[in-house]
Amino acid sequence: MPHKGCPNQCSFCNQKSISGQLNELTPDDVHQAVKKAMENPGLKNAEIAFFGGSFTAIERDYMLSLLQPAAQYIDFDKFKGIRISTRPDCIDDEICQILKDNKVTAVELGAQSMNDEVLRLNHRGHTSRDVENAVKMLRSYGFETGLQMMTGLYGSDENESLETGKRFIELLPDTVRIYPTVVLRNTHLAELYEKGEYSPQTVEQAVEICSKLLLMFSQAGIRVIRVGLHSGGNVEEGFVAGAYHPAFKELCESRIYLNKILDELKNKAVTQATVYVPKGATSQAVGQKKQNLKLLGEKGYNLTVKENLDLEKYQVIIKE
Ligand code: SF4
Repeated sequence: MPHKGCPNQCSFCNQKSISGQLNELTPDDVHQAVKKAMENPGLKNAEIAFFGGSFTAIERDYMLSLLQPAAQYIDFDKFKGIRISTRPDCIDDEICQILKDNKVTAVELGAQSMNDEVLRLNHRGHTSRDVENAVKMLRSYGFETGLQMMTGLYGSDENESLETGKRFIELLPDTVRIYPTVVLRNTHLAELYEKGEYSPQTVEQAVEICSKLLLMFSQAGIRVIRVGLHSGGNVEEGFVAGAYHPAFKELCESRIYLNKILDELKNKAVTQATVYVPKGATSQAVGQKKQNLKLLGEKGYNLTVKENLDLEKYQVIIKE
């Protein structure tokens, strides 16, 4: 629902590029999308999700005209609830009650940063206090609560992103999404970039920061449900500059393993060894196109990677 309900235009946002959706969603579109999903015989405990725009700020009758058809499908075992995303300053008691009454179970807030100056520079139109208040209210109504953050915004740096990560952890969201900033055509950021006033993060810089954030959230027991913009849609067409990679999360997880392996090796006088990683983590530990192994090889290490069922996510053990 690109830009629906948005009271302002954030510096980085061109949702027509991100979503690929150009027409206004109708109640019939909701029925059709749900029915299509129900053709999948394996569908169980799924969610009906409305993403894009500021769902709780769209005109009330229109919002209800979309929610009510979706709500009809909840309670069958195929769909467990409705998920929406919105702005932190568009949450109050009245809207929470409406969402509850219409079977919304999960609410994600586009917080983007917990630094008020970064929020101001990027025309967000809300403060970090709005994020804190909204999270508390959503939790008091029992919604699964998600927070979305961005790295590499105008006026941001690594410290700001890590500080935002820490403040998120204090708020104990159920889920987090991390998006490195991508400069899209027809945005304020694109203008700043073209005037030379804004330097976007490179993929490499974004991987370095986002891998730290991913590890922080994982250690705090917070589920990270997305890292990096979805490929597809129209992102590639709208792309001007910045940290976009279709397998961005994979790059971050590989970086976590690389850093962990290097850390472990610091305390060992070995050049040849076996690296044990959790089940299913071999490709991340080895890296895309064996990048991690090549890099470790250049440092003089000859390593073999094996999986160990007893290890937890991102845990690494090295044995000679
Ligand atoms: S980032 Fe969110 S609030 Fe800002 S313009 Fe885009 S959809 Fe609207």
